[in-house]
Amino acid sequence: MKAMIRSANLSEEQRKLVLSAIKVIARKAPTFLGIVAKCRIEAKDLGGTAYAATDGKRIFINFDMVPKDPETLASIILHEALHIALKHTEKARKHRYPGTFNIASDAVINYFISERLGLKLPPNVITPEWISGKIKKPVDEVKKMSAEELYWLLLRNGVTEEKTHDLGIPSGSSSDSSPDSTSSSNAPQSHDHQDEEQSDEDNGDSKREDEPSEEDVIIAIERWATIENLTKNREFDPIDDLRLLDVAGKVDWKRILRAKLGGLSREIKKSTWLRESRKLGEDAMGRIRSRSRHPRKIIVAVDVSGSIVAETNLLKEFAKEVVEIARQVQADIVLIPWGDTVYEVLSIPRQKVGDSTILAPLLKHAGRGTNVEPALQKIDEVIRSGKARYGVVLLTDGMFATTPKIQELAINVARRAEVAVYLYTVYEHPHVFSNWIRIKYSHY
Ligand SMILES: [Zn+2]
Repeated sequence: MKAMIRSANLSEEQRKLVLSAIKVIARKAPTFLGIVAKCRIEAKDLGGTAYAATDGKRIFINFDMVPKDPETLASIILHEALHIALKHTEKARKHRYPGTFNIASDAVINYFISERLGLKLPPNVITPEWISGKIKKPVDEVKKMSAEELYWLLLRNGVTEEKTHDLGIPSGSSSDSSPDSTSSSNAPQSHDHQDEEQSDEDNGDSKREDEPSEEDVIIAIERWATIENLTKNREFDPIDDLRLLDVAGKVDWKRILRAKLGGLSREIKKSTWLRESRKLGEDAMGRIRSRSRHPRKIIVAVDVSGSIVAETNLLKEFAKEVVEIARQVQADIVLIPWGDTVYEVLSIPRQKVGDSTILAPLLKHAGRGTNVEPALQKIDEVIRSGKARYGVVLLTDGMFATTPKIQELAINVARRAEVAVYLYTVYEHPHVFSNWIRIKYSHY
C-alpha cells in the first residue's frame, strides 16, 4: 500500500494520514483506488482557506486545513482525483469564466462523493443545495445536471468568476445570498484548481502514461455500480452518473452544424425531392425546379439574454463557425439578436459576412429575459417573405416557458426552412423542437 502514495514531499506523519485515507477509499469506493493511485500527492501551503488543490496533474494537500479524520481526507483526495481524471482544469480554462466552471464541477463531484459513494465531505463545500439557492432551481433538478449545464445556469444568475478562488466561492457573490443553509457566516470552501501551478515539463496535451483518464472513471463507475448493486441491492443508474460527471454524450456541435448547414450548398436532386415537397406544401412541384437557383440564406437567431453573451469565447467560436459556413455555402446571413423581444433584424450580404459583423450586434444587446416566441415569429416572417433556400440556427440556453403556441411556431419554422438547427446550452425542449436538429452547445 505504501508504494501507492506517489509523493515528493510528505512528512512521515502526513504520509500515514494519506495512507489511512486511501484505506478508506479502498473500503468504501474500491474501484476508484486505481484513479487515486495514479495521482501524485504533495503537501502544499495553500493559505488559510483551501483544503486541497490540483493543477490538473498533481494533488496538493493543505495539511494545516484538512480535518484529521481519514474519511474526510479520503473524500478530499477523491475530489481532486476526479477533477484530474475528468480534465476539469483543462475544461475550466476553455470557458470564459473558469472560476464559475470550477464551482459547477465542484458541486457535481461533491454530490457524487457524498450521495453516491457515501463519503463524508469536509464542512463548507459547494453542494447542490448551495447551487440551488444561486440558480433558483429545485435541488433535485440541480442533482441531475452536468457541470456544463450548471455553468450556464450560474452565468445566467450572475455568478461570473474569472479566477478559481481558494475559497471556491467568489467573495463578491457570497454576500448576496446565504451560501449554505448549514453554514452560518462562512462561505463554502472548496479545493480548487491552480492554473499557475503547471509544471515546466507539462506541455499542452502531453499526457503521462499513468494519469487517470475519463475512461478510468467510466470503468470505475460501472464496476462500482455492479458491485454495489449486487451487494446492497439498491437503486443505481450508472448512466445517470456518467451524465453527472460530464463524460457521456459529448457532441461536437461544430461538426454537426457544418454538416447540416452545408447541405444548403447541395443542388436539390430528385432523390430528396419527395422529402422537400412535404416541407414546401401545395405548389412544391412547380417550385422545386427553380429552387436551387434561389439565393441561400442562413437565419442566425441568437438569444442574447445573458449567459451566452457573457461567454464571449464560445460566442466568438460560434460567430467564426457561422462565418465559415456562410462562405462555404455562399449564403447571406440574416442576424436576429433576441431576448424578451426581437432587438433587430440585420441582413448581411455574403460579401460582408465576417466575425465582427456577427459578433458586434450580438454583444450590443444584452437583455435580461428570454422569450422565444417573438424570435420564432420573426424567423417565420423572414422565411415567408423571401424567396431563398433558408437554413435556420437558433442559439439559446433554452430557458423559456414553453406553450402550445411556441411549439406550433417552432414546428412550422422547421417545416418551411430547408434545415433548422436548435443549438442549446441547458434545456433541449425536445417536444417543442421535435423536428429541428438539436445540438448541445459546449466546449467539448
Ligand atoms: Zn474542486
